[in-house]
Amino acid sequence: MTPSCPCGRELPLSRCCGRFLDGEALPETAEDLMRSRYSAHVLERIEYLRDTLWPRHQPLFDTAGTARRAADNHWTGLTVIAVHGGGSADREGTVLFEARFLAGGQLVTHRECSRFRKKKGRWYYVEAVPE
Ligand SMILES: [Zn+2]
Repeated sequence: MTPSCPCGRELPLSRCCGRFLDGEALPETAEDLMRSRYSAHVLERIEYLRDTLWPRHQPLFDTAGTARRAADNHWTGLTVIAVHGGGSADREGTVLFEARFLAGGQLVTHRECSRFRKKKGRWYYVEAVPE
């Protein structure tokens, strides 16, 4: 049996976030991009996290810090709580989610409302915004 995708969908990685991480397809929705960025943390695909950041923010991306956090944290699950906009016909959207991980033996819940924007047909993560 193939394990399901780290993002929590009941699909094999290769039919879910794996297609985006490997550049075989582009996420159609903000939620797809958000889920694939979670999977990128789990799988330590740091370059994907940089490449899916809003282009103007990419030069500020902390590659070493992100790699360290992705490796040190033991990711235990993702819950998407609310999605506004971010559909295939939209240009903007927000996704409210909780990502859980173990850090130094403690279970931590990272809750964030992320804003996403589309540019030239690609979704990018812009920033965390108030819920
Ligand atoms: Zn997935």
